[in-house]
This record gives sequence, structure tokens and C-alpha cells, in this order.
Amino acid sequence: MPDSPRICLLSDAPKGAFARHLALLYPECFTSLDFREADHSAQALSGYTHVVTMVTHRRNLEKLDYAAVRAFAESGGGVVSCLFEYARFHGLPLSKTHVGDRIRPAIRICAENDITRGFRVGDVTPWWGKVSHAPNNTHPNQLFQRQIPGMTASEQVSILGTSTVNAGAVLIEEKVGKGRILALDLLSLMEPFYDSWGSANKFLFLGNLIGGSVRYGKHYPRKLLYDEFVAEMGALAQRLPALTLTREGPCSDGRPVCSLSLGRPDKPSFLFFGAIHGWEWENAYGLLHLAELLASEDPPEGLSRESFYLKVVPILNPYGYETDIRHNANGVDLNRNFDCAWQGHEGGEDLYVPWDFDYKGAAPASEPETRIAQRLIQEHKPLCVADFHTADYIMLWPHRGDEALLNAIHADFTRRLENRYLSQRPYSPEYEQVNILRKTDFSPPHPFLICYAAEAGTPASFVLEMSGNRTDTQALVMNVDTVVEVCLAAIQQCLARR
Ligand SMILES: [Zn+2]
Repeated sequence: MPDSPRICLLSDAPKGAFARHLALLYPECFTSLDFREADHSAQALSGYTHVVTMVTHRRNLEKLDYAAVRAFAESGGGVVSCLFEYARFHGLPLSKTHVGDRIRPAIRICAENDITRGFRVGDVTPWWGKVSHAPNNTHPNQLFQRQIPGMTASEQVSILGTSTVNAGAVLIEEKVGKGRILALDLLSLMEPFYDSWGSANKFLFLGNLIGGSVRYGKHYPRKLLYDEFVAEMGALAQRLPALTLTREGPCSDGRPVCSLSLGRPDKPSFLFFGAIHGWEWENAYGLLHLAELLASEDPPEGLSRESFYLKVVPILNPYGYETDIRHNANGVDLNRNFDCAWQGHEGGEDLYVPWDFDYKGAAPASEPETRIAQRLIQEHKPLCVADFHTADYIMLWPHRGDEALLNAIHADFTRRLENRYLSQRPYSPEYEQVNILRKTDFSPPHPFLICYAAEAGTPASFVLEMSGNRTDTQALVMNVDTVVEVCLAAIQQCLARR
């Protein structure tokens, strides 16, 4: 990965949405050229590290000097090309495959390398465009995907992903001299709007080639039922002796709230929670993978399990996770139920009743899930408590705590996440990098988990909001990566200040 890539888009739509979004992803090092007019000879391209080509109309194809693009790759550059021009300039067939929307074309990953990082062989990720360009899932529609049928691999050419519709190549890597070309179907895909199924990972493989987008991200094929998730936690604890699975107590529907822990309880401790709002479910997978990474033989960033204690509760609200709602089984918003400034919280409108958006319960800590979290905070006296949500891009911290430490954690993870992922901000049409630049404290205290932790003496407790609440696992590589990076930043910064 070059330190600072210099990227050139060659397109006949140099101001289109694709160009705008690439400019958001690589703000300081991106140039968009109209190849119908601009000089893009090998000489002109030599100042860049990466060239992306997108020909949107066949009438313009001949104006793209693909020989110059190949020469650029030969001399060591990285090239990303749409399948249309790649196929035409290599004499390969191209198929545009249309299906009804009951069949959802996807890429089946068939090789693992830096470009497919985050996925394993056999993983499937949705990959399609829509004839109508209508947003998600609202009307019956025709879906389509471009692919190169009958392509065979060679010493130079690897097929990284094939179509689930008729097995043509959709993701291809070709070694060219000292560089390489990644050819993939970008043109079919719409922009990765919120809860997009067909295009959630539009910039992921491209980003892996250009800037190493995926570091710790991991794909999970489907959202597990709660009991399956607990079984997965148990399987991890079986496989990795450093991990301990604990049943922390029954939740409001009677099933156990479970945690994974590792390290030394006498050392600085970290408590990370997910899915206190059940519908904000994706972060649970990030915490699960964090535990897997830190318990492995070779933990990331040389972190020694001798130097800290970690407990993750990936799903604090099993009922809400399973039913895809905010509340627990009693209709309580658990993050308004903590024994901290509970009296002062006024919710509701005319009435204030269970299942209202932020119903705080009948009494402080009336709910078993709340009491479990409070007990863990009192027992472990953590240095850091993180509570992961998915309703914005922001870091929030409570009325008291070590502000310098919180700022250091924020600075660390925003640096880690720079120029890696792009998505719509939740509840907004705006696209932005998933690097969570915004941060704020909120005072006075509220009956929130992090405020309770702050009152109990936790120096660094914070809420992390990112994109999520999606209907399936299509964006989990990004979510998992973000959660792991935020957690690693928190651990590293807290340990560095001891
Ligand atoms: Zn939330």
C-alpha cells in the first residue's frame, strides 16, 4: 500500500456520482478526467499510483486509450477497470444478465488475497444494479449484473469472484508487468445508499487495491438467531483457550445474557457492550470478532493479554436483537433505565408507556439487563466502557470523565479509519466516510449506560454511533472493521496513559 495514493479516474462521466464518491473516499489525492478530451497517455498517467476506468457508454469506448492504461499497469501502477472496457480491450465476451428481483445476483468469492480481504472462499455478497434505479426493495423490479462468461484463469489471471446467477467472472485480477489490473462490475451498481443490498460493498474491493480498506473486517453469511449467536460464542471459547464464556444472568425474556472475557482481571479492564438497543445489531459481530482476534495466538498490534482484562457483552438485549426492536421484552428502552439521573428523564408525549421510543421503565434499574451491566461496571471498575450503537456517525461521552483520554481515543480511531469506507449517514441522504469525525459530550447526566459508568468512576466511557440497522449482513465487513478499530484505539490509548 503506497503511503499516499494519487488516483486518476478516466471516465466519460467525470462528474457523475461515482466520481463524486471516489472524491469523498480519497479527498486529497483524486483527479477525475474526461478521457474523451484529456491527455491520458502513458506519460500523462505516470504521475499517478492508481488509475480507475469507467466507460459508461459504448459510443465513447474507442476514445479510451486502454493500451496506455495497460502500459501504466506494466510499469507498476494499480488499475481498476469496469468489465465493459476490460472485456472489449481483451477480446473477451461480456454478458449483461437480467433477472427478476426474487433472484438477487451476488459475487461468490473464489480466492482469498488482499483484494478480497474480509471474505473467505465461498462467501457470497450481493452485487447488482436495478433497471429502474428505484431505491431499495420498494417495487417489483428487474435486477442485473455484468459478467464475463467462460473465463479461464491462468498464471497471470485470477478469478476472484464469480456470479451466483450463471458463474461468469465478476471480479478478476490480472498481473501485468510490475503492476496489476482489477476488473470488476462497477457500472451495474447503484451508489451504496442506506440498507443497499446490491451495492453495499461497491467501493470495498477497489478500496482494498488502492488503500487497504479492510484490515480486521469479517463477513458473516447471515444474521444469527440469538441462541445461534451464543453457540458461536461458545464455539470460539472452545477453540481459543484464552477466552471464557460466561452466562451473566437471565434477560427479560428468560434467556441468558452472555459475555466473552480474556486477560488478567487484576490489570486495567475494558467493558464493551453491543445491541443494548436490539435493532442496532451489527456491532455485536464486531465485538465477537474483537474477542476472536485478541484471544488468538497472534493478537493484533502485539497486544499482550497479560497487560489488560477485556469483557465483551456483544448482545446486552437478546429480546430486542431477536425481534429487531429497540426495547427489551418489557417494552423498556434499556439505555434510559440506568440508575443515574433516572428521575429527571422525561420521555413520552401525552402518555409515557412501555414501548414508547425511550420508555425508561417503572424504576431505576428495574430491568435485569440494566442490572447486569451495572453489576459488571461495579465489579470490574473498568478503565474504559464502550457502548456501540448504530444511529449516526458520532462519538458521545458523558458529563464526566477524562476528556483528554477520550479525545486521544477519538483521534486514534479517526486516523485508523481515514479513507477506508464510504456510506450514507444514517437518517440522511448524505454520503461520507465511515470515520466518525464528529464528537461531543452531553451534559447533564442521563440514565444512560455510559453516564452510570462515569458516575461509577470510569475515566473513559463513550457511545459510538455508526451506520447499521440493516436488513441483512451485506455491510458487516465494514461494521466489524469499524468496531474493532475503535476498540483497539481505546485499548491502546488507555494502556499508553497508565
Ligand atoms: Zn441506540
